[in-house]
Amino acid sequence: MNDHYAIVVHGGAGALDSAFVDEQRIEGMREGIRAALTAGERELKAGGSAVDAVLASVTSLEDNPIFNAGRGSVLAADRRHYLDAGIMRGSDLACGAVASLSTVKNPILLANEIMRSRKEILIAGEHGDLIARELGIELVDNSYFTTDYRLKRLEHALQRGEMELDHGNTFDEKKGTVGAVALDRKGELISASSTGGMTAKHPGRIGDSSLVGAGLYASHSSAAISCTGVGEIILRHNLAGRVSSLISDGGRSLQEASDYMIHEILPKGSAGLIAIDRFGNVVMPFNSKGMARGMLKAGGTPQVFIGREES
Ligand code: ASP
Repeated sequence: MNDHYAIVVHGGAGALDSAFVDEQRIEGMREGIRAALTAGERELKAGGSAVDAVLASVTSLEDNPIFNAGRGSVLAADRRHYLDAGIMRGSDLACGAVASLSTVKNPILLANEIMRSRKEILIAGEHGDLIARELGIELVDNSYFTTDYRLKRLEHALQRGEMELDHGNTFDEKKGTVGAVALDRKGELISASSTGGMTAKHPGRIGDSSLVGAGLYASHSSAAISCTGVGEIILRHNLAGRVSSLISDGGRSLQEASDYMIHEILPKGSAGLIAIDRFGNVVMPFNSKGMARGMLKAGGTPQVFIGREES
């Protein structure tokens, strides 16, 4: 076992400043990111796996109503919630994902069960909810995910007649999704993402967060990567997969590959990502005004950031 381990989390990219989001909410995000880091680190410190760590971090963010995943997810145009999540392991490229779920309290737990026990990778819609029931994974009524804040954002988006990213109006405003990447003491890398998607999305719309290669990727020959931002743009650019292959096939460093995709290829205001490699190098680039994010390495204290000025 190595001495070093690390957990990195994000709570969505966007314009996280007081022009769009009030101070109290920003403080709530900071606290939520800190709590997710601490939950993940507890597992790693005790010798737990990177899977245990990302599940602890992501479920803590899913249960926190401030983030757009699990409880607190955005509403689709039909006033219901449809949730997506995915998880991937770096050592053997195992992965599991779920999309358009409507009753699974913690979608990341079902994604993990799919990675662990099934030959399929991605299960969508009511079939995912049914598998969760069979596996004894906690189910809730769809209204469990709703908060007043998200209802207001839906009304706003419906009036404007457009799909919104979390509680923002444009690319550069706040986007959602949560994610975690971890390196454990055995050297395993895991990435995970979970989201409610975009406010007023069409029912059945699936973004990048459950799609391996777009919203997440993990390989020991590159890094564990979890993305956030405009799903349709991330899909077109195959963001996580390209960062990975720029490293494994293109010989770029984690920093170079991530910066190139986020700052030179993707449109401004569209996305961000977190990533970690087997040496414990961490990057958290974004091209929006802010991204709720944080990292915690063995023996360190949680580092939490929201805006650009802090990175
Ligand atoms: N990527 C998510 C989606 O498009 C949303 C986000 O990260 O803000 O579903």
